[in-house]
Amino acid sequence: MMQILRTVAELRTRVRGWKADGRQVGVVPTMGALHEGHLSLVRAAKRGCDRVIVTVFVNPTQFNNPEDLAKYPRTEAADAALLAEEGVDVLFAPGPDEVYPAGFASQVIVNGVSAPLEGERRPGHFEGVATVVTKLFGMTQADRAYFGQKDWQQLQVVKRLVADLNISVEVVGCETIREPDGLAMSSRNVRLDPLSRAQAPALHRILQKTAQALRGGAEVAPVLAQAVADLRLAGFSDVDYLELRTAAMLEPATSVAQPARLLVAATIGDVRLIDNIPV
Ligand code: AMP
Repeated sequence: MMQILRTVAELRTRVRGWKADGRQVGVVPTMGALHEGHLSLVRAAKRGCDRVIVTVFVNPTQFNNPEDLAKYPRTEAADAALLAEEGVDVLFAPGPDEVYPAGFASQVIVNGVSAPLEGERRPGHFEGVATVVTKLFGMTQADRAYFGQKDWQQLQVVKRLVADLNISVEVVGCETIREPDGLAMSSRNVRLDPLSRAQAPALHRILQKTAQALRGGAEVAPVLAQAVADLRLAGFSDVDYLELRTAAMLEPATSVAQPARLLVAATIGDVRLIDNIPV
């Protein structure tokens, strides 16, 4: 039976019992509105760990835009039903006051890998992510934590902070789950109007085409410029960035000689989508 817990104290008691029995604990941090992408992380956690905690917390400190926070979908009953079906042991769904009680004053800042791309366009975002993830690791005492490659930069930020702060959790990055037409699953996809939803798969299609050109030896700058033009033609209004970066450090990459990643953020309708693929 899955338990829904809302306080850190209850969670700690539960985890202490598991640890005393020598159980390996996995955690899947989420903001809810769960889809198959989240469930793929849950399944990986089930395969890799004896006990699985899924956290659902819409973390206010990682939203740089109040409207995005207000519009963020919240579907706790449906989420709980899906997680129970997957055999999750604990759904940890604390309120904001449990996570940030009066007097809260700390922040985790990861330099370097947090700075470009999302870090530049969403000031404060990765500080919010790094802080809440560090707290979730402390609360759950998990042995392994599962994150999606969908949020590639976030995954690199989490790996960095775990290494830097000597947190004893193994970070597992899981493949991006896509709709049949290639659109990466995202909780924000429900906000796409029908036309935008029909146009949105161009994001992945153009990434693939660009990656192929780069693998074939094409020069980076013109290929990226063409891809941005293609995105606009496909219906994207703003292209925040479309860049080739080194896979782990996310430094600008001028060739595909080293492991590189194409990363994009672009808006269609009024929904900002991100995606990335290896090159
Ligand atoms: P979120 O609820 O959007 O904060 O996402 C929670 C976790 O699920 C993060 O580690 C995401 O990277 C991951 N995730 C979200 N969408 C996908 C997807 N389409 N495929 C794989 N993982 C995903």
